Amino acid sequence: MSVPFLDLKAQQEQIREEINARITLVMDDCAFAGGKYVEEFEEAFANYCTADYAVGCGSGTEALWLALLAHDVGPGDEVITAPNTFFATAEAISYTGASPVFVDVDPVSHNIDPSMIEAAIGPNTKAIMPVHLYGQMADMDPIMALARERGLIVIEDASQAHGAAYDGQRAGSMGQAGCFSFYPGKNLGAYGEAGAVTTNDEALAQRMRALRDHGQTAKHTHSHIGWNCRMDGMQGAVLSVKLKYLPEWTKLRRAHAAHYRQLLEHVEGLLLPVEREGSHHVYHIYAVMTQARDAVMNHLQGAGIGCAAHYPTPVHLQSAYSHLNLGAGSFPHAERCARETLSLPMFAELTVAQRETVAGTLLSYFGAK
Ligand SMILES: *Cc1c(COP(=O)(O)O)cnc(C)c1O
Repeated sequence: MSVPFLDLKAQQEQIREEINARITLVMDDCAFAGGKYVEEFEEAFANYCTADYAVGCGSGTEALWLALLAHDVGPGDEVITAPNTFFATAEAISYTGASPVFVDVDPVSHNIDPSMIEAAIGPNTKAIMPVHLYGQMADMDPIMALARERGLIVIEDASQAHGAAYDGQRAGSMGQAGCFSFYPGKNLGAYGEAGAVTTNDEALAQRMRALRDHGQTAKHTHSHIGWNCRMDGMQGAVLSVKLKYLPEWTKLRRAHAAHYRQLLEHVEGLLLPVEREGSHHVYHIYAVMTQARDAVMNHLQGAGIGCAAHYPTPVHLQSAYSHLNLGAGSFPHAERCARETLSLPMFAELTVAQRETVAGTLLSYFGAK
């Protein structure tokens, strides 16, 4: 039996009729760019995140860029983030003209190590951008405390963490802004590209609404240099339908993670993801660690099991950032993640048989019973 890494079709089949009906409404109303279906989703998503506002936009990358821009982050500024993330986290920082400053991660959670942030703060530091990697929130209390003490803003990259919580507080509700991606493969995925920023700051929400629409504060009144980062009406409609199912889908992901743990925890040479106490992990990605990552990956792929490495090259070692002169060895924990993490199939519709096949194939590699 082959097991896909992600099966979007299994989800589409469950919601086809509802999605078709809602998309037809958007077409009949010709509400294609922004409009009421986007506003409806923004309200529901803000509620879901227990934030006061959500501002829809065209992608997670745009969400990060809008949040930074709305805080006047730009040339000469520095933003502290983790190097083991999707490239867009750092890219959005660079796109404002600011520079990313990397801080190594905690070896257990793989999220930014709060105890190492202070040493990276300099006179040009403006913000901290923790990434809630794989669906587990970064250790936010010390990050928020340090930011308050040093007058820095905190922008959460919550692109992988829809509905995750830290001691009961939802992703996107703790920092000054929370940025989400609705790329199709994310826990809440659009039928195309989309993103959103959450915030409790009304003025900031207004500023981001203007920035995503050419800096317009009223029709034909351009108060800022913005860009076109609007969300499509179709995506708003699709996301509103799917948001209703997200709590159930998250419950299933968590149950699958518990099942993987039960099947794999005795395997020597394999480290399973660790949930920090008080953390509600939403398992966007179920990543294990093994020193034999590439060989295990080949073994799984040879058996028809989809798997991946998130991410095989940390951002500081990408050639796009060679000008930062951060060689190998700069961030040992992040670099170890790049060598050793292996992401297994994880999606709500994953069946018992599929999970057992994945585990059985891993056991056959490690020679365990
Ligand atoms: C997906 C992702 C992004 C970018 O989102 P897009 O919608 O693809 O632009 C940014 N940061 C992280 C951590 C992501 O996983």
